[in-house]
Amino acid sequence: MNSKNEQDSSSEEIFCKLAIIGSGPAGYSAAIYAARAQLAPVLVDGMQPGGQLTITTEVENFPGFPEGIEGPVLMHRCREQAARFGTRFIESEITKVDFSDSPFGLQTSRKEIIRASSVIIATGAQARFLGLPSERALMGRGVSACATCDGFFFKNVPVAIVGGGDTAMEEALFLTRFASKVTVIHRRDALRASRILQERAKQNPKIEFAWSSTVQEILGDPASGVTGVRLSNVKTGDLSDLECQGVFIAIGHEPSTKIFKGQIDLRDDGYVRIAEPGTTKTNVPGVFVAGDAADSRYRQAITAAGSGCAAALDAQHYLEEIGSL
Ligand code: NAP
Repeated sequence: MNSKNEQDSSSEEIFCKLAIIGSGPAGYSAAIYAARAQLAPVLVDGMQPGGQLTITTEVENFPGFPEGIEGPVLMHRCREQAARFGTRFIESEITKVDFSDSPFGLQTSRKEIIRASSVIIATGAQARFLGLPSERALMGRGVSACATCDGFFFKNVPVAIVGGGDTAMEEALFLTRFASKVTVIHRRDALRASRILQERAKQNPKIEFAWSSTVQEILGDPASGVTGVRLSNVKTGDLSDLECQGVFIAIGHEPSTKIFKGQIDLRDDGYVRIAEPGTTKTNVPGVFVAGDAADSRYRQAITAAGSGCAAALDAQHYLEEIGSL
């Protein structure tokens, strides 16, 4: 990023006390708190405004909505609430950050330069998907990457889950509360999951395993939803169809943290490292993190929203300490 003196004259420079990167539940909650605290935050949307909730359908586990609420509607309302108190939205992506000096520098894809006394990283994470056209076509029509969110919709019907790690086992066990049968589809003949979760899954009478199998296609159509999966046995090449009405993809998540590499401490798996457990502080004073960008464990909208609030409070205290309020 250019220094202040070298800056391209065509680029706009935006000064603020707090910049929030990301527009999921963590970013919006941080913005609501910060805006109400008169910090006049600037929130940069990112690639997928509204975050992961914009690709889910009904959200039934966010408190305050007893009838449930559509994910995109929930995010739109959060945005309106942040706007009401004076959040400035930048509809762009951050392409580069410079946390070496204060104010911190953030460059957007529209070439604006944001100079912020404090930053909240709320860039989230993305579920890994198989990359099949049928998977994309049936997303939210039986294909899901979150059993906790969507398992409830599959009462007394067979479902499948793809993956062999801890998440897949936990979600398979969770799904047995609703589904008539849960088939775990794994590409090898040995699970990656911890022994305890493996044993629990193997002992559950509702769980079956399709070993050494990959999903070649998800069957169904957007009108009627998922009807099954076509499996390919990696050892024999044999194809077979498995009947199910839901397919849960549990092959891992990737935090959206690449632009922070070299600027703050990241864990080996790419998640932002919290410098002081129980806070939202990163190793750079003035840079905070909220939501899935630092959370490989809970990954829920409500936990992300809670940590967004915490990050805004941490940022406020930091700004008070450095006399920038
Ligand atoms: P993970 O451990 O990376 O497991 C991903 C699974 O998906 C693996 O079995 C992998 O197969 C499979 N996979 C990856 N790409 C695939 C593809 N393209 N097609 C088919 N299968 C594919 O991810 P995770 O289960 O989400 O866990 C992430 C981290 O969170 C782990 O450290 C885990 O221990 C932790 N976690 C812990 C708990 C708990 O302790 N209760 C609960 C959830 C998660 P291979 O095995 O062949 O590589």
